[in-house]
Amino acid sequence: MTEKKHTRRAFAAVIACLALTAAACVGIPENAETPAETPSETPSETPAETPKMTKQVTETPAETSAETPSETSAETPSETSAETPSETVTATDAVTASRSPEERARETAALTVDENGVDNAWAFLLINARNPLPDGYVPVTAPIGVYSLDARCAEYALLMFEAARNDGITLNVQSAYRSIERQTVNFESFYNSLVSRGYTPERAFDATAAEIAPPYTSEHNAGLAADIGIIESYFDTTEEFRWLKENSWKFGFIMRYPADKTSVTGIIYEPWHYRFVGLYHAGRIRDSGLCLEEYMGDDGSDNDVNGVVEKFREYITGR
Ligand SMILES: [Zn+2]
Repeated sequence: MTEKKHTRRAFAAVIACLALTAAACVGIPENAETPAETPSETPSETPAETPKMTKQVTETPAETSAETPSETSAETPSETSAETPSETVTATDAVTASRSPEERARETAALTVDENGVDNAWAFLLINARNPLPDGYVPVTAPIGVYSLDARCAEYALLMFEAARNDGITLNVQSAYRSIERQTVNFESFYNSLVSRGYTPERAFDATAAEIAPPYTSEHNAGLAADIGIIESYFDTTEEFRWLKENSWKFGFIMRYPADKTSVTGIIYEPWHYRFVGLYHAGRIRDSGLCLEEYMGDDGSDNDVNGVVEKFREYITGR
């Protein structure tokens, strides 16, 4: 009996032990998973995420808001402000470029239009051997490259040169404003060369005056004329001449001494000599086919009321 009791107790103990073991074996993995998941997820994720998020919240916004905006606000506005003026200049250039030199010449001329619709009326005057400039006349000049013109018409010449360049034409200025002193030297030099070749003083004077205007009778002395291109009659065979013939009037300049008007102008054919008369008259003179004397109704009578030319003749031939 005792052995059976022991056996039973032992068996019961084994069963109980097995049951406990089985329960433990079953329960451990469940318990192990739960704590394993909970601590592994919760502590690892939560502390890991939380600091990360905290860092991101603290660092990212701080750095982003500190760096990005400062860089953006520092660079973008500076770039924008640096680009904006250049874009403005570009836009201005585009506007300027969209307005041709011819249009700008018309706009400038429009500012000077009088009650008769004539622009630059001051420039509409006859300067020749019978109509010299007043004694002592010296214009206010402005540069057109290395030479100069009356300051009131220099801009028109520059616009004309610009228009020619736009068409691939280079207009070389050979002479523009000349002082009375310079004109005198030029005249005397040519006059002396003729006298040395046997011309009488009177004949030498007249022959010289046909090519070089006496002081005060030259449009160069007034700063109203420019010699452009080649100082030879064959200049009229060049593309530069053709461009001037087609376009100079748009800028207020006329070819002053045509080949078929030498008897009226008293000056040889000069395809290189361009005279400013204003846009209004330049267009009409071109259309009329008249030279300036004819267009102004000059009757060819002696208008040298101050005797400037005669005094110069006496000065030159009397030495
Ligand atoms: Zn000239």
